Amino acid sequence: MALQPAAQRRSIRLLPPAIAARIAAGEVIERPASVVKELVENALDAAASQIRIQIRGAGLLEIRVTDNGYGIPADELPLAVQRHATSKLPDDDLERIQTLGFRGEALPSIAAVAELSIASATLEAPLGRRLTLGGGKIIADEPIAHPPGTTVIVRRLFENLPARLAATRNERAEVAEIVRVVRRLAIAAPGVRFALWLEDRLALQTTGTGDLSTTLIELYGPALADALRPLGPLEVAGAHLSGLVSTPDLTRSNRNHLHVIVNGRWTQPRVLLTSLEAAYRPLLPRGRHPILVLVIEVDPRAVDVNIHPAKLEVRLQAEREIGLAACELLRGVLARTPRRFALTPPLQSLDPLHDTAAINEPDTQYDEELQQTEILTPAFPPLRLLGQVQKRLILLEGPDALYLVDQHRAHERILYEQLRKARTAQPEAVLLPEPILINVRLAEVERFTSWLDRLATLGFHCEPFGPRSFLLRAVPTLPGLVPGSDPLAGIGELDELAPSLLTLLDEPNLNEDWHDRFLVQLACRTAVRRGRPLSRPALRALVEALGQTSAPAVCPHGSPIVLRIEAHALASQFRW
Ligand code: ADP
Ligand code: MG
Repeated sequence: MALQPAAQRRSIRLLPPAIAARIAAGEVIERPASVVKELVENALDAAASQIRIQIRGAGLLEIRVTDNGYGIPADELPLAVQRHATSKLPDDDLERIQTLGFRGEALPSIAAVAELSIASATLEAPLGRRLTLGGGKIIADEPIAHPPGTTVIVRRLFENLPARLAATRNERAEVAEIVRVVRRLAIAAPGVRFALWLEDRLALQTTGTGDLSTTLIELYGPALADALRPLGPLEVAGAHLSGLVSTPDLTRSNRNHLHVIVNGRWTQPRVLLTSLEAAYRPLLPRGRHPILVLVIEVDPRAVDVNIHPAKLEVRLQAEREIGLAACELLRGVLARTPRRFALTPPLQSLDPLHDTAAINEPDTQYDEELQQTEILTPAFPPLRLLGQVQKRLILLEGPDALYLVDQHRAHERILYEQLRKARTAQPEAVLLPEPILINVRLAEVERFTSWLDRLATLGFHCEPFGPRSFLLRAVPTLPGLVPGSDPLAGIGELDELAPSLLTLLDEPNLNEDWHDRFLVQLACRTAVRRGRPLSRPALRALVEALGQTSAPAVCPHGSPIVLRIEAHALASQFRW
């Protein structure tokens, strides 16, 4: 999963000027975390299996990184701190970089803004050497005993750069960034054992088992264990995709936990991240983000890592195709994972109920036999309908859990997907038994008239009727909205249709988003209300239709539709 470290160590040499010139603008040491990143990357490139990072004074006083990698032979140590000296481009081949570093610039750049000491020894020559640099020059050079591997100590960072120092005065922010950087590096290298010490406190630790989910749980805490779902694996456009995502039960309020690893390198591919976010946004509550790791492995020739000074961005040849496939994987997991029923979060959002807990058994006539059979859908396990609870929930029994389905959100999801379908395929229009009158203000007649064609493409056929009125004569096939004879007929809020169409008058412009916004509010307003008693056939038809949708677990606003009460949760609550 991690980068292939060079099978064996190569010698450090100065890059030929022609190659040095092709390397993207120099390493920038902006803040303490940049130092940490470069030093840890060097340790990873040296095939270390253990890396220890110790931070004092937010990294401004001291950063110390110790690894057990293959070390640097004493005679090459002076080269390591020279500009454009690297052991990582043996054939000058910038197109096939397999290491995290390749520019030979990090150590000299750090030495230019701090005191730096580097001590190293190899397995073959156990007597090590230590160089100390101040102001970019070697001020001490001595033989020392050092276990195979390397220790770099960086002190008094930015002390000679008052402006840079002033910019990093917020110690908490610097420490937070260091933690983020180490977390990213540890996720990209699950086979390496990391320990991050802040002053004398162990802040992060991984065991280096090589298993990505173990690493994530070590970094994010045991609560993640139940909430991780695998993505893929999948082959697409010459790339191998895999990864993990947290279910909607466990989300974060910012994007800091989206990790894309390309050939062992943590990166921020902007286009890919934007499309991933677009894929999960409608499936999670507003403003929430998952913990996500997407691991992409491709031929090194299919990525350009030499485009960003801090090597944070890469250019992926098949980024579009890979992005589409990744979004599909992500949607597939998030849209189909029912929210788990937890007893801990406050239930304050439940408003006072009239007839609580009464299971509503409507006495409508129905085909007894049909209603006893299990509901089979692609999205859910076979479900047996138990009834309606509180006039708002559909209660069902599955093989290993009870399922509660929010009737309003289920209908909302069904309508929304139907409307979206109508948008792409030529919608079949259904004549309303009685046309609906839509009145607008005189000043808005023209504006509404200009929308008629667009509404017609969605299956809503309106025509002018008098000076400031329109008649809605036909609508797309929307289950439950129009009166009729199917079990869902008339459960929705037909009266809300006209006000909902009128929201178009508030649309400032016709950018790509209006469509979806419009459909979401249309579905929400016209879906069956909570508090409405439903017949068993209607309950059944709702679950059947819901189970056919692409995202049966989440409503178009990102809230849960389905709660699952697992059998083992009941067993533990009852102490059976
Ligand atoms: P780069 O990583 O781009 O080659 P650096 O300035 O970071 O440039 O390091 C220069 C060279 O020093 C590396 O190519 C590598 O040979 C050697 N080096 C640096 N740190 C380590 C380390 N922790 N273990 C082994 N070799 C190292
Ligand atoms: Mg480096």
